[in-house]
Amino acid sequence: MKKNINASHTPLYREAGFNLKDSKTTQEAFAAELDHPHEPENYIYSRYRNPTTVAVEQQIMELEGCKWALLVETGMAAIDVAVSVFQKGKDTRPWLFFHEIYGGTNSFIDTVLIKRRNLDVHRFYANEGLYDFEELERMLKEIKPEFLYFEAVSNPMLIVADVKRIMELAKQYDCKIIVDNTFGTPYLWKPLVDGADLVIHSATKYMSGHGNITAGVICGNDEELMKEAIEYRKWAGHFLSPDDAYRLGSQLKSFDLRFKQHCDNALALAEYLENHPMIEEVLYPGLESHPTRKEALALFGDKGFGGMVTFDIKGDSDEDKREKCNRFIAALEDHIPLVPTLGEVDTILLPVEPVWGAKYPLPGTIRLSVGIENIEKLKGWIGDALEEL
Ligand SMILES: *Cc1c(COP(=O)(O)O)cnc(C)c1O
Repeated sequence: MKKNINASHTPLYREAGFNLKDSKTTQEAFAAELDHPHEPENYIYSRYRNPTTVAVEQQIMELEGCKWALLVETGMAAIDVAVSVFQKGKDTRPWLFFHEIYGGTNSFIDTVLIKRRNLDVHRFYANEGLYDFEELERMLKEIKPEFLYFEAVSNPMLIVADVKRIMELAKQYDCKIIVDNTFGTPYLWKPLVDGADLVIHSATKYMSGHGNITAGVICGNDEELMKEAIEYRKWAGHFLSPDDAYRLGSQLKSFDLRFKQHCDNALALAEYLENHPMIEEVLYPGLESHPTRKEALALFGDKGFGGMVTFDIKGDSDEDKREKCNRFIAALEDHIPLVPTLGEVDTILLPVEPVWGAKYPLPGTIRLSVGIENIEKLKGWIGDALEEL
């Protein structure tokens, strides 16, 4: 017995290859491959397309408000697909990346795009997280990049870019736009609705939300770009396993609820920390004191400001700050562990200096990925740990 079970959810299809029956249907299936048909027939091989994965891609299309989405095994794989569709041998134009992006992406640029593929990659550096639009325009004019790649919210300083202005400027110079929307999430901003060409996510973070899946997704509206992305995904062998897709699909159903709670908790905690005598400074785009609160309000409206909060512990010297930071982490061990990821339902923390090193030489700084726990409980844990200092 193989078919027609009255399942209420898209089943988990684990097959590597699908039953194509005869040569006519085989030919049809291969001919339609790049059109990415969503009908139940014509599945060929799971590296090409899998019905469980396609069902989750449709959930993400609805979230991002876009025409297509392609799942892959990690956020890094999504970045690889997104930029590689613009690699056209000798005709490849220069590419421009903002420097204030995920560290792994900067390493990918150095070790893969430049060192191995010898591509003409340029970087736009922010000045203490703030963007000089004259300089950006000069680069767009002189370099004539094929695309500009950026994140709306920087990490770990949580600087929100004036993305509408960046995008207007790029379009003026015939430059496409790729956005890594992992931190903002479609809850706060839908770049494809505002004219971006491609959006990628590390679905490992807020989309899956429980720290138990690694996944990535590339989203877009343009059909030609979709075909290029399907082709690259298939032949570079990037794909999300149906098992992981199935779990991601279940976890995505609570995404909006979770992210709203992340935002509410983060704002409440940021306000609490800002008024605490042991805290030097809190960086959260929802606070009056944040340098890009205006940009955040313009982009996110009244939806919230995300789930990440960065703060400095007070100390008499750098050494004292380091020591207090260590004691704070130790005091929280049972409630808020040090885990180098983000976007989970449980609050986790990361000390900034050991991870970012000289780039952010702030010895007492901690980046919190605020979870969805009861806020009074969260404040209690953190208050108790600060008390011990
Ligand atoms: C984690 C992360 C990535 C990489 O995603 P993986 O799923 O770890 O491969 C890319 N961009 C941002 C902003 C991230 O936080």
